Amino acid sequence: MTEIEITKLREECGVFGIYGHPEASKLTYLGLYALQHRGQESCGIVASDGVELRLERKMGHVSEAFDQPALDRLRGASSIGHVRYSTAGEVSINEAQPFLVTCQHGQIAVCHNGNLPFAREERLRLEREGAIFSSTSDTEVVLHGVARSRASVREAIPEVLRETEGAFSMLFLTPNELIAIRDSRGFRPLALGRLGDAWVVASETCAFDLIDAQYVRDVEPGEMIVIDRDGLRSSHPLPSQPHSMCLFEHVYFARPDSLVYGRSINESRHKMGRRLAVEQPADADIVVPVPDSGVAASIGYAAESGLSFRFGLVRNHYVGRTFIEPRQSIRSFGVRIKLNPVRDLINGKRIVLIDDSIVRGTTSKKIVQMVREAGAKEIHVRISCPPTISPCYYGVDTPNKSDLIAANKSVEEIRKFIEADSLGYLSLEGMIAASGVSPDASCVACWNGRYPTRITREAETYWEREHESVTAES
Ligand code: SF4
Repeated sequence: MTEIEITKLREECGVFGIYGHPEASKLTYLGLYALQHRGQESCGIVASDGVELRLERKMGHVSEAFDQPALDRLRGASSIGHVRYSTAGEVSINEAQPFLVTCQHGQIAVCHNGNLPFAREERLRLEREGAIFSSTSDTEVVLHGVARSRASVREAIPEVLRETEGAFSMLFLTPNELIAIRDSRGFRPLALGRLGDAWVVASETCAFDLIDAQYVRDVEPGEMIVIDRDGLRSSHPLPSQPHSMCLFEHVYFARPDSLVYGRSINESRHKMGRRLAVEQPADADIVVPVPDSGVAASIGYAAESGLSFRFGLVRNHYVGRTFIEPRQSIRSFGVRIKLNPVRDLINGKRIVLIDDSIVRGTTSKKIVQMVREAGAKEIHVRISCPPTISPCYYGVDTPNKSDLIAANKSVEEIRKFIEADSLGYLSLEGMIAASGVSPDASCVACWNGRYPTRITREAETYWEREHESVTAES
C-alpha cells in the first residue's frame, strides 16, 4: 500500500442496484465500474432470476474480478452490487459484500454503504445467544434481525433499522423484490434512476451515465423504496430526524461528474475554489492542482484570482497495488509513484498548490518537497475545506484523532511541518455555502467535532482499535 493511499480519507463503499432489465448483472458490473473510486479492495454482485439468488464476490477491482462466464452465471432481471474498501485486519473475501443468506423468508442479499456503530452491542448480544457470523461487518447484524423477524422482509427491514442511529444507504434483494433504504439523517448518498422500464439505484449518478440511465431523484433520508413486479412504492417508515448529509462527498469522495444530494459535485468544487481565492489570496504566478480531486477547486481559484491554471503535477493512474520498491531510498518515492512535477512549468514560479484536504500531513510535506525540488520559488498551499480535526463514524475511513494533524497542530504549525511558504484553508461557512447544501442538513463533524448522533465510548474504542494497525503501517 503506498503512503499516498493511506494518508487520504477514504469512502468505504459504493452500491448499485437494478430491477427489471434482462442484462441486470452486466449493468450492475458497469455501475460498479463507475463507482470504483468508492472502494477498491473487493466487489460483489448478486442477481435474481425470480426464483433463486446467485452471488459472486471477489477481491480486487471490478474489471479484473468479473469475467464473462461469471456474469453469465448471474442470470436474471434484478441485481445488486457493492464495491468496498477495508480497514486494517479485514482484507478478506468474507468481508466482501453483498452478503447472501437463506432463512425462514427464503434468500435475502444485502449491501451497505455507511456504518452502524450501535450494531456492535446487538452483535455481542446475538453472539452470546449463540448466533454465528461469517464476517466482522455490522451489516450482517441487520441481516440477522431481518432473518429472525416474523414479519415479511419489507416490514422487517425498517423494524430492525428503526432503532439504529447509524449511517446506511442499503440495498436488499430477494428473488422477487429490490428494496432500497436510506437512514433518516441521509449521511450517505443514494440516487434513483430509470433505464427504459427498469429502475436503478446507485451511490452516485456517474453510475447512471455509463449505462444511459436517467437520474430521477434522490432516495430521500428516511425513505424506503420497494420495487417488484407491481412497480415502485415509496414509504417513510423510519422516525424523522434532522438531515446530516456528508459534505466530504462534495469536497473529495464523489466523482466530479456526479450529482450528490441533487447537486453537481463539479460546481461545488469550483465554487469552493472561488471562495478559497477570496478568503485565502496569494501573491503568485500560477495555480497548480494536486490531481485529480484538487482540479475543479483550482480552476475556480484561478478564475476568481485571475492567475493562470496549469497542470504542474501529473498523476499516474495506472499504479497497481503491488510494485517493486527500490532497495536504496529515493526521496518522496511514495508520492512519486502517483505524482510527478512538470519541471518547465514549475521552475522559477511562485505556485498556489491546491489540494482538497490534509489528513496526516506527511503526503502534503512530500508533495511540497517535490515541487520545491522542481524549482518552485514559493509554494502557497491552499486547501478547499477547513482543517480536518475529528474522525468519522459514519462510513468513512479516517485515522485516529492522534494522527489527524489539524487535531494536534495549529495552521502555522502545519505550515511549518509541510514546509510551505504559506498555508490557508477554506472556512466552514465558505465550504457549506459553496456546496449549496443547507447548513441545517449537513454533517460537518470531521471539521467541527460536533457529531449529529450519540457516539458511545464503546464505539470510539472500537474505532481506535480498528485503526491502530492502519496507523502502524503508515
Ligand atoms: S464526519 Fe465528516 S466524513 Fe463523516 S459523515 Fe460527517 S462530514 Fe462526512
